[in-house]
Amino acid sequence: MKKIVIVLLIIPFTISLTSCKINWFGQQYDVPWWVIAVPVVVFSAIVWFAAGKHIASKKYVCPKCNKTFYPKWWQAAVSIHMNDDRVFRCPHCGRKGFCPLSIKKED
Ligand SMILES: [Zn+2]
Repeated sequence: MKKIVIVLLIIPFTISLTSCKINWFGQQYDVPWWVIAVPVVVFSAIVWFAAGKHIASKKYVCPKCNKTFYPKWWQAAVSIHMNDDRVFRCPHCGRKGFCPLSIKKED
């Protein structure tokens, strides 16, 4: 989540740049803003996707109905979390709230 905050701070900063002068071995280059912004956006998308996929590979348990489920990766990437608990809507009973990680290894 800290990475996402950093990216959110970087994006307005890069967009506010119209061009950027770079000194490279005594030669000066004008770099348009998108040369910086595009890799930043692509990188943040990859980080978001990787983080979501990583979280979605874990099994969570609903505290109301005690059923386990795997969250969708896009939900996992944007979900609020506290330690290992994350806010998900249970696909079984529809309860929305903090769901702890399942410690059970079976199924
Ligand atoms: Zn449930």
